[in-house]
Amino acid sequence: MSRRDALARMLRLRARKQRRRGGILMYHCISEETYDPWAICISPNAFDDQMAVLAQARAAVDLANFAGSDAYTRTGSQLAVTFDDGYVDNLVAALPVLERYEIPATIFVIGNAVGRTREFWWDGLQRAVPSGEPLPDRLDFPFGKGRRTFTLNERPGDSATNARWRADSGEITTSRQALFRALWDAIVVLEPTEQDDAIDHVLAWGGRMATTPTSRVALDAEQFAQLADHPLITLGSHTLDHVSLTDLPADRQRTQISAGHRKIEELSGRPITRFSYPYGRFDDTARAAVRELGIDVACTSVPMPAIGSDDPCALPRVQATEMDGDQFTRWLREDYGLIRGQLLQ
Ligand SMILES: [Zn+2]
Repeated sequence: MSRRDALARMLRLRARKQRRRGGILMYHCISEETYDPWAICISPNAFDDQMAVLAQARAAVDLANFAGSDAYTRTGSQLAVTFDDGYVDNLVAALPVLERYEIPATIFVIGNAVGRTREFWWDGLQRAVPSGEPLPDRLDFPFGKGRRTFTLNERPGDSATNARWRADSGEITTSRQALFRALWDAIVVLEPTEQDDAIDHVLAWGGRMATTPTSRVALDAEQFAQLADHPLITLGSHTLDHVSLTDLPADRQRTQISAGHRKIEELSGRPITRFSYPYGRFDDTARAAVRELGIDVACTSVPMPAIGSDDPCALPRVQATEMDGDQFTRWLREDYGLIRGQLLQ
């Protein structure tokens, strides 16, 4: 982020902390993970701590409240819990915790991922380009816009830097981080089947197994049905194939949004009125397509508290990461002016 963008963000955030506001929390996987450049995993213990904080503060509300005015308070005291993608741990690890504290949650499921037996491409990439293990120094990549060759020039000490690296920081200081990011950018825009082929290719190059780790499995149809029937869970859609909407022409955006929506409605046997944008990427076309489907609430990944004047079809959302209860409370309060009374700067 440039200094100018960072300043604009800070001012926007400060203004939001003075308004009636609420918070939408974003989770993906509830599992232990040592290398997690997008910080999408949190341990079951940390998740339990965080839900305990919400329960103690009586803060948890259903996401539907964010479509009206109920979720927005002067103290930012209301928060909704959401999960993206549809990992099996949402059922196995998260649901028992949600039940214990009676916290409602929304799970946005990728239409074609229900019953998917192989890992998502981004999880495969993370295994293929890990933080430290040796890799060959040249990778031919014959996918997308023509054949490309990537090279690695690693220095001693890089691997320790890589282990702590956060891809979403925008900072790249090692050759391996640059490779990871370049591959991510190249693969995100490929067709879904080509994404899987590209991951197979990169896994083979790095000498990794093509087997999906048990921690990164998607829900199967029966597990999906269990969540659909659960009183604390509301399902939402997340496109058919987890596409980067803003890289697609308008007609394909609409198809991905509506077909994903229809699929989740068919599988769950319920009307679906919630949506989240894959990779947080959205534009006016995507927003209009979502609205036309009768979606009440759609979530982005813009890390801000939500305020009443936000478009319910583009609500910001903050990503909870590995934090214990105290850290979680401080993060919500200090970074976003959420969960407790006083106005913060
Ligand atoms: Zn997603």
